[in-house]
Amino acid sequence: MIRISEYFARDVAVYGLGRTGLSAALALKAGGARVHAWDDNEETRAKAEAAGIALSDINKRDWQTFAALVLSPGIPYKFPQPHRLVRMAEMTGVPVIGDMELFARAVQAMPERSRPKVIGITGTNGKSTTTALIGHILKEAGRDVRVGGNIGTGVLDLAPLHSNAVYVLELSSYQLDLVKSLHCNVAVMLNLSPDHLDRHGGMDGYQAAKMRIFQNQTPQDVAVIGFDDIYTQSMAIGLGGSGVQKVTQISSTYTLGKGVSAVEGRLYDNMSGKAEFIGKLEDCPALQGRHNFQNAAAAYAACRAIGLDPATIMAGLKTFPGLAHRMENVGALEGVRFVNDSKATNAQAAEQALRSFRNIYWIAGGVAKAEGIAPLAACFPNVTKAYLIGQAEETFAAALQGKVPAQVCGTLERAVDAAFRDARASGDPSPVILLSPACASFDQFKDYEHRGDVFRDLVSAMMPAPIKESA
Ligand code: ADP
Repeated sequence: MIRISEYFARDVAVYGLGRTGLSAALALKAGGARVHAWDDNEETRAKAEAAGIALSDINKRDWQTFAALVLSPGIPYKFPQPHRLVRMAEMTGVPVIGDMELFARAVQAMPERSRPKVIGITGTNGKSTTTALIGHILKEAGRDVRVGGNIGTGVLDLAPLHSNAVYVLELSSYQLDLVKSLHCNVAVMLNLSPDHLDRHGGMDGYQAAKMRIFQNQTPQDVAVIGFDDIYTQSMAIGLGGSGVQKVTQISSTYTLGKGVSAVEGRLYDNMSGKAEFIGKLEDCPALQGRHNFQNAAAAYAACRAIGLDPATIMAGLKTFPGLAHRMENVGALEGVRFVNDSKATNAQAAEQALRSFRNIYWIAGGVAKAEGIAPLAACFPNVTKAYLIGQAEETFAAALQGKVPAQVCGTLERAVDAAFRDARASGDPSPVILLSPACASFDQFKDYEHRGDVFRDLVSAMMPAPIKESA
């Protein structure tokens, strides 16, 4: 845990006691603050109490006594409208911050030469993959690396600050909205497309929140910026011209005049203006598809910025095991491969997987997003047949009519069964049964992880039992 002593003997309100709120409450308590922790959900409150946090209904407290309100990133800060308690804080002059700001201030409070290094990663898609990938490469290179933030472990639950440590932090736009002091030695901006616009008052607000990853950077620092969409292109050009920090452009679409490119999986380092071939990403099993080439190029640039040599980085890219539920290989049987891409909860995410394979037996459906699967039409030639489940099964069947053969299956279990029978009998070279639902999961599952776990279990149950050695 990273102890926060900034609020020693002062009163701090903590609102929202999920993963990050709870770790903030514990870190503040360990640093001697008087913590007033609250969550509207009874079950969450009970969990916090069991973790040793005394509850205090901050709705009924005198707000003049609070030195800060630590707000959970899930709670509306400015849009669609500020939460009632955010308004209360504003009216009483109480600063509103997040757990990431507490971390950032603890780092700033250290003497400059003994501060750990911070690599921040944001973007609309690929944050978790790139964060885990950078963490993996640095760990394999023997660095003292801590990975967390919006992925896995809340930042204040990571191991204590140390001058040799590298903190690799996934940063969501909600978290970035709540930081002022964060200083990323390396800031990675992967890509940007309209998302969470209700929480940011539109695209300008969303982009402004994301840009906060670059605040406080100096000429010694590096901004790694994707050059594959118009939003991040203009950021790269704007920041590059400003000279505030060094900018490294990365792309999986364009061969860059200067930067790191991974077009068709061929990784080139052209940061000095002289192109050097680094390696083929086809040798990196967990980094297939153009979207992963972007993630790999970003991770390469970030690790170069922190001082790793190209061969060490390439070795790490090759051994990256990948993240669960993101184009995760979960088995193969009788020549049929099973891929779990349950995290693809919208069409844009599903598109990455559908573009990456041929002869796809596609399991899709659940709770559809507004755009449905219409944006995926260009990928339909890769799909041999679709197996549809959940609430969206009839609408998806209608959308596929005349384009892709489709079977309404109801449940994931029936879909896996039917897909396997067809794929095995097809005679297709390397058929792939792909769960990439383009839908949220909550009509039939707890969350996307649950859906992916059920898929994995169904696949495991089909595998032949290992032959036991006789005694
Ligand atoms: P995030 O943490 O930003 O949600 P993840 O790494 O968890 O991103 O990936 C989520 C989904 O987004 C994956 O299943 C994949 O289909 C897609 N994806 C991953 N990386 C990228 C990228 N660089 N560009 C576009 N889509 C991506």
